[in-house]
Amino acid sequence: MQQGPLLVTHLLRYAERFHRAARITTQRRDGSTAALAYPELAARTARLAHALAARGIARGERLATLAWNDHRHLELYYGVAGIGAVCHTVNPRLFPDQIAFILNDAGDTHLFLDPMFLPILCAIGDRVPAALKTLVLLEPPAETVPATLAARFEVLDYEALIAGHAETFDWPEFEENTAAFLCYSSGTTGDPKGVLYSHRSCVLHAYGANQPDSFGLRSVDTVMPVVPMFHVNAWGIPFVALLAGASLVLPGPRLDGASLFRLMEETGVTLSAGVPTIWLGLLNHLRETGSRFAKPPRLLIGGSACPLPIIETLERDYGACVDHAWGMTETSPIGLYNTPKREQAGWSAADRLRLKRKQGRPVAGVQLRIVDAEGREVAMDGVAFGEILVRGPWVAAAYFGHDDDPAFTADGWFRTGDVATMDESGYVEIVDRAKDVIKSGGEWISSIALENIAIGHPKLREAAVIGARHPKWDERPVLVAVAAEGTTPTKAEILEWFDGKVAKWWRPDDVIFVDELPHTATGKLLKTELRKRYRDHLSP
Ligand code: ADP
Repeated sequence: MQQGPLLVTHLLRYAERFHRAARITTQRRDGSTAALAYPELAARTARLAHALAARGIARGERLATLAWNDHRHLELYYGVAGIGAVCHTVNPRLFPDQIAFILNDAGDTHLFLDPMFLPILCAIGDRVPAALKTLVLLEPPAETVPATLAARFEVLDYEALIAGHAETFDWPEFEENTAAFLCYSSGTTGDPKGVLYSHRSCVLHAYGANQPDSFGLRSVDTVMPVVPMFHVNAWGIPFVALLAGASLVLPGPRLDGASLFRLMEETGVTLSAGVPTIWLGLLNHLRETGSRFAKPPRLLIGGSACPLPIIETLERDYGACVDHAWGMTETSPIGLYNTPKREQAGWSAADRLRLKRKQGRPVAGVQLRIVDAEGREVAMDGVAFGEILVRGPWVAAAYFGHDDDPAFTADGWFRTGDVATMDESGYVEIVDRAKDVIKSGGEWISSIALENIAIGHPKLREAAVIGARHPKWDERPVLVAVAAEGTTPTKAEILEWFDGKVAKWWRPDDVIFVDELPHTATGKLLKTELRKRYRDHLSP
């Protein structure tokens, strides 16, 4: 058969030529919107590519972004990768220390940023890498650029940079394993580590993620990634949308429930993707305002375990269809996707709902095994658990700049650090992260299972369970919880709530009420921080 490289610019060319009616809508900071068609996106991307080429950007050079989901970020995706350079998406919600580490680790030469992130650069100060010489502002700044930055960097305006260049570009064909994107894991469990995606892995992931039992996007769809483009390439949606010819809605910096709901209604979103916290925000808005979707969308939830009551309420009360999925930075990210199978045809509504709690079954293209401590595959019975190992064309083979990480086995598997079960139909349920699972007297307790129960209590808004040191049992679960608005739950009533729902010895030893729980840059519970604070809560 014919040979040819799989390159992301093929997706751009395809959408430009054959999906001219689809729209890319960007929400601006003030809530107004602007729309482009794929041919306009391609023309602007071509202008960007000419501008980059004129600056002599080399193949493999890393150009960083600190940007929201908008059309300029999308132009950078295709323009930078399209000329053979690497688009390095930096997460602005990380701590300045982590951002300094990442910019240095990547060796970026340019940074394309929303001016609202200039203070991050001020905070980093002289820890900015020497190679980073140019800042390109994606919007006109509200205030003048701080003098220290103006003195240290060449500061350009994005629109001025691309102005006047030709609107077509002869996209080069090169080896498909050429690096295209660089993204660091959000550091929930340690220092951020870089994953370098190739053109081939991005294109294959787009095909894989868009299978009918996964995203299943078609050209009549409108997809809104709320998951940021700086987090695992917005779960691949910037590629899948073009592959499908679907319309895209990019919400910019306004990610609150009210803004998202308005945008969804205005643009007719049929699929949106985000972490549980985002959907909790939307749900609260719907509840508070009594709003309803004109046409209920599909909502894809992933990134951390989604409490069942959130799924249930969105489906039962608001008509949405919730898809649960699992993945990680190292898996591009789609690995598991939960859609029903033939086996469930006769199931009751309650049983079908319970299945939604599981993260899904392996997407064709990803090989997945769950193994015990000895490396033996565990039984497919939905009870036995072990660590998930994955392998496949969109799974990382190493971390950027570090070839020797123990997460990559000699025989080509990636150890995810996620502990899970698999049932006889292949549905996987994440039990915990290996680092979060609570080891009580030699037995394991799933912190996620306890959180799911806790969050079902009407007087709790959010809950986290961590293992606190215990003189006798090694570790015991402690629940850290935020009360629901207008309620004052007692410890006793919260602890009683676990009775009959889990084995007695799983019941948390104590409840700590707090006003707020710490989250990572991507909205996940920051359990490392909670452990720091409450590790010795039970020890004398
Ligand atoms: P980080 O590892 O820094 O949090 P990632 O975004 O790569 O950054 O996170 C991937 C991890 O998120 C997975 O290993 C898993 O622990 C968790 N995760 C992702 N999706 C789900 C899900 N649907 N349910 C439970 N955990 C999930």
